[in-house]
Amino acid sequence: MKECLFCKIADGSISADKAYEDEDVIAFHDVNPQAPVHILVIPRKHITSINEIAEMDNRVLKRMFVVLRDLAIENKIDGDGYRTVINTGLKAGQSVDHLHMHLLGGRSMSWPPG
Ligand code: 5GP
Ligand code: ZN
Repeated sequence: MKECLFCKIADGSISADKAYEDEDVIAFHDVNPQAPVHILVIPRKHITSINEIAEMDNRVLKRMFVVLRDLAIENKIDGDGYRTVINTGLKAGQSVDHLHMHLLGGRSMSWPPG
């Protein structure tokens, strides 16, 4: 997707503070962190949102969870706990139309979310 911000981060044409990358998945620090640890995990392939995931995306979706789990361990938030968020659509607050998982940790969090 030519005009997609996260596709551009994935192909390196826009820079980001990357925490991890492989052939399927990229992770980078959120530019506007909402917690001491705030990392976004995205598929390299453009998928607009959960609404658009397909059966053939199984491998990359599983990989996103594994990478997120490993980053939680690497950032030492696995023990105390962390929050994983995927916003889908306007009312949920999705502002970038390329699937992304937020990994948030390093502070206490309340529920329900706003
Ligand atoms: P959403 O609101 O779609 O769930 O999350 C999008 C996230 O992307 C936001 O937390 C926002 O701060 C982050 N973001 C937006 N633009 C950029 C950018 O250019 N670089 C980085 N690293 N994060 C971004
Ligand atoms: Zn994209």
